[in-house]
Amino acid sequence: MKGLAALAFLGAIALLPAAFAQTPAQLAKRPDVRRALDYVNASESETLSEQIRVCEIPAPPFKEAVRAEELRRRFLELGLGHVRIDREGNVIGERAGSSAAPTLVLAAHLDTVFPEGTAVKVERDGVMLKAPGIGDDCRGLAVILAVARALSHAELKTAGTIVFVADVGEEGLGNLRGVRELLTEELKTRPTEFITIDSSGFDLVNREVGSNRYRVTFHGPGGHSYWAFGLPSAIHALGRAIDKVADFKVPARPKTTFTVGRIEGGTSVNSIAHTAWMEVDLRSEGVTELAHLDADLKRAVQSALDEENAFWSSEQKLTVTVAPIGERPVGTQDVLAPIIRTALAVDQALDIRSNLTSSSTDAGLPVRLGIPAIAMGGGGRWLGMHSLEESFDTTGSALGTERILLMTLAIVGLE
Ligand SMILES: [Zn+2]
Repeated sequence: MKGLAALAFLGAIALLPAAFAQTPAQLAKRPDVRRALDYVNASESETLSEQIRVCEIPAPPFKEAVRAEELRRRFLELGLGHVRIDREGNVIGERAGSSAAPTLVLAAHLDTVFPEGTAVKVERDGVMLKAPGIGDDCRGLAVILAVARALSHAELKTAGTIVFVADVGEEGLGNLRGVRELLTEELKTRPTEFITIDSSGFDLVNREVGSNRYRVTFHGPGGHSYWAFGLPSAIHALGRAIDKVADFKVPARPKTTFTVGRIEGGTSVNSIAHTAWMEVDLRSEGVTELAHLDADLKRAVQSALDEENAFWSSEQKLTVTVAPIGERPVGTQDVLAPIIRTALAVDQALDIRSNLTSSSTDAGLPVRLGIPAIAMGGGGRWLGMHSLEESFDTTGSALGTERILLMTLAIVGLE
């Protein structure tokens, strides 16, 4: 894409903010940093074993505790300080720097989209690893552990503090509850930068997609399909609403999308339904576009209700509730913010082709709170994300680990 290529070029030549004493390219040439980079490269098989082990511990939404316990154990083993699990279930471990600032959060998420009972045994076939969650986000968890391991192996003394976090509630209805607790309660105003290792391969997310999700429920008296004929129907009203949503017009840029993902209602074939609901997902990269889409939905629901009630002359009317079940902010950070430029410079130093992209990740929340944030892929290649066929191609994955290590050092600096 022309626009993105131009961005990558700009990022590569842009001067780094004055706060960074050494550019990623200069850092990568230091003997002590070289040692750490060589170490993660040489021990990538250990990182992959870690990825497999973590992945074989199920972590369905809202049930991340067993996997969290494993991360806590590893944080302690790797010598991180002040290791703890917060109220929401996030695992936190710190590596103190010599200065008060910066304080970087280096995160990956514990939860998967898969329900309890999903088989999570990892199958190996040559360079391929296959299991639900193997990429998203077991790769991220393995990479943050590898960074902690390399820092301690190379005995690097950083200027800033690194707070390692394995967080809960990134996926779906988790609605970022982990990072929300982390950044509004547990760490409050301490973090100055936030990196999450999520999304695949060498992705570099510089646009956070916002989403609004609702459960829309129509309620009514309901009754016998023959004897009570003439009553408004919750299912008919829902049908009218879906018909309107299906005709929504949205712009291609900024990418804006909508879908009715689930519906349910009624009790039997010979009843006028007393209840019917739909779950709707609205997304956009644009704040205004998402707000418009949101207003469109509410208008569509209201007119569907009015039409169904008006169609019948019954005294008994339907009502509707529109309950939010998820809200993720649209990223408002500059697409060339300093943290994005630093990531581009890291990729340039390591000869990586950055894949600038948009996504919806944990980084959306810090951005909304005014904390510079980015989501980066931890190398390798992911296939079939969020499907039971999810796979991870390990070819060249060590470069991803090096990428995150160098990015971490570029943010916190060395003594
Ligand atoms: Zn993810």
